Amino acid sequence: MTGYRDMCCGCAAPGYPCTRCNLRNVFYLECDNCGADEKLYRVGDKELCADCVREAVDYIPEEDAYFYEGEMLTEDELFERLEEVEYED
Ligand SMILES: [Zn+2]
Ligand SMILES: [Zn+2]
Repeated sequence: MTGYRDMCCGCAAPGYPCTRCNLRNVFYLECDNCGADEKLYRVGDKELCADCVREAVDYIPEEDAYFYEGEMLTEDELFERLEEVEYED
């Protein structure tokens, strides 16, 4: 998932949220499955890190390939196929 988070710890005056620092609205992106803060890929309606993608997609050991959307793909092909979750400005 992605979103914005207030990371300010009251740097203007202790106990008061400040209005000027750039930590008030910090973009974050984290894996829907494990919460990792890494590059994410869209799989169905989920946004997953690379490790969780490998677990979420059917792997066929005999073929050393992944079965995704009706096709056998190598790991490289799988990641090329998946849409990356973009950072927003
Ligand atoms: Zn602040
Ligand atoms: Zn993950």
